[in-house]
Amino acid sequence: MAAAPLDTLIRALARLPGLGRRSAERAALALVRRPDQLLDDLVLALQQARQSVRCCECCGAFTTVEVNPCVLCTDAARDDALLCVVEEPGDILSIERSGGFRGRYHALLGKLSPAKQTGPAELRLQALAARVARGQVKEVLLALSTDMEGDATAGFIAEMLRPRGVRVTRLAFGLPADSGVGYSDALTLKRAIGGRMDV
Ligand code: ZN
Repeated sequence: MAAAPLDTLIRALARLPGLGRRSAERAALALVRRPDQLLDDLVLALQQARQSVRCCECCGAFTTVEVNPCVLCTDAARDDALLCVVEEPGDILSIERSGGFRGRYHALLGKLSPAKQTGPAELRLQALAARVARGQVKEVLLALSTDMEGDATAGFIAEMLRPRGVRVTRLAFGLPADSGVGYSDALTLKRAIGGRMDV
């Protein structure tokens, strides 16, 4: 049994995605073993992230308190007519890395899921409708996961936007089943964007 503060640290780390109890324990022990080299830097980075990192008020991408709306929303070189809808802010990073998209973004912060009790009101769908209603958007590209929840979300958005007369497209298939944009490599993603199809 580890000392209480150490055990608390292990349990906090184990709640992170990708870290099970065993890796959390390894990480925690390394941190307290070398506080000057590892722990201090991590404490500082965590504090800075907590104080400064925010979701963009317009698109939902990660940005800072000082830069909100984010650079993706204010970059004049990007195409206002093309809006890419993703589930998570991290998906925007994946699509940017692919280099295959030069429009604007909109993160829903989730997807429709009866199991997780995520309904339309829990997602940034009204904000999406409001952006499209402003009239500049001509095509909405849905870069959602290829599972049932992603399909349901895509269907919902297509219905919601139908009266607006905008083209609604979805990434070409070819992404691994039951995995989202966040798991796709750059080339696969670029091809999926290039081969997008009408919903
Ligand atoms: Zn933004």
